[in-house]
Amino acid sequence: MMSKTETRTLLNLTVNDLVSAYNGRSGKCACGCSGRHSYMDADLGTARRGYAVDADEVRPKSVARTLTKVQDHFDTAESFPGGFSVDVDGRLFAVYVR
Ligand SMILES: [Zn+2]
Repeated sequence: MMSKTETRTLLNLTVNDLVSAYNGRSGKCACGCSGRHSYMDADLGTARRGYAVDADEVRPKSVARTLTKVQDHFDTAESFPGGFSVDVDGRLFAVYVR
């Protein structure tokens, strides 16, 4: 359960506040082997991840869709250090803030 402040922060986020997003299977490893990380920007993503983000991993539209998903389900979303996530129908959606 998130606080009102956390909920407000989540609902006010835009893609420009994000580094990346994750869409993958619930209850599985989130390294990317059971889902997909998408980045807003290769340089920013590389700096955050610590190894190169390739051009095909830069998918702003995918980041935007994941953000909409987490925001649409704000009532069951969770915050974690650096982002927000939600579990919907067996999939985990997470957004990572700048
Ligand atoms: Zn993994």
